[in-house]
Amino acid sequence: MSDLSDLYQEVILDHNKRPRNFGAMAEFDRRALGHNPLCGDRLVLYLKLDGDRVAGVSFEGSGCAISKASASLMTDAIKGKTVAEVRDLFTRFQAMVTMPMEQEVDEASMGKLAALAGVRSFPVRVKCASLAWHTLKAALEQSQQPVHTE
Ligand code: ZN
Repeated sequence: MSDLSDLYQEVILDHNKRPRNFGAMAEFDRRALGHNPLCGDRLVLYLKLDGDRVAGVSFEGSGCAISKASASLMTDAIKGKTVAEVRDLFTRFQAMVTMPMEQEVDEASMGKLAALAGVRSFPVRVKCASLAWHTLKAALEQSQQPVHTE
């Protein structure tokens, strides 16, 4: 189990250091702002939709390693997916980061996102890990209100 934790730790460090899909998008269909005042994480999420499918996604902002890694992993995970699939993944991600520690993570279905399952033991970190996802949801719902994790 500790080997697995090390592997997950590495995924998070890597995505924090070299975030994927990082930067503003010049032409986008949706944009949403996210802010986690507890930690000071801020991000802007850009979405490009092709009909019902996520054609492109990027983010920019600043925050802790968890929030940045989570946003990076999320953008990788949702690219090319339909909006319905993205919503489903959102639900499963939320379940994963809030379920009891003793419950096993479904790694086959979560893929690299499973690296964030460890935040379950740190309630404050759950907000860091969820920020990008809540911001994504706001972008899909075209909410004009900035997202606060509070
Ligand atoms: Zn944070």
